[in-house]
Amino acid sequence: MRGILILGLLAGLLSACQAIPSAQAPQRSSVARSTAVITPNPAVRACLADLGAKSAAFTPLPDQYYGAGCSTVGTVKLAALKSDRAELALAGLGPVTCPLAESLAGWARYGVDRAAQQILGSPLVRIETMGSYSCRNIAGSPRRSAHATGNAIDVSGFVLADGRHITIAGNWADQSPQVQRFFEAIRQSACKRFGTVLTPAYNAAHHDHLHLEMSSRAFCK
Ligand SMILES: [Zn+2]
Repeated sequence: MRGILILGLLAGLLSACQAIPSAQAPQRSSVARSTAVITPNPAVRACLADLGAKSAAFTPLPDQYYGAGCSTVGTVKLAALKSDRAELALAGLGPVTCPLAESLAGWARYGVDRAAQQILGSPLVRIETMGSYSCRNIAGSPRRSAHATGNAIDVSGFVLADGRHITIAGNWADQSPQVQRFFEAIRQSACKRFGTVLTPAYNAAHHDHLHLEMSSRAFCK
């Protein structure tokens, strides 16, 4: 009888021990999602100062690590950019790394707005996007996308001051020579400013947007 009692106690202790790891599991995943606010390192601080000097309106975001290779480190939330004469609105944009925001500011002002004025006869007022940060892989690949670190933006369209709405999905194959010249001008400007630029000419996954990515690999199609 005593032996059975001891065995019962041992079994109870063992099941209690086994219960500990599963009880801790949710805490581990909540640690992986924790938010850590850090002072920006000197490179990020210098970039933020440059971005402010370019008259971009933005808020620096706290660094976050989501696990599985996904993070937003040294990123900002862009509220608006400036063209030569006006403010440029942005739609659909999430966190972007500071160097990417800087390249976007230069492209919007010197690439897109000037091409819109010179080729289409109306200034740019708004850039529409399909987002930036997204914890995902490159389509059809086991590798993490630059979107998983806020290092890429998908641009889907442009609104001009005269009300024209030009989209990648609707106008990339437009027969109008002006629209074709506009797209070629902004593509060339993007290729100078971003490491990787993917357009509908690259593959079907990009039929409705321009993928603009900061990378050391120069690839433009
Ligand atoms: Zn993309």
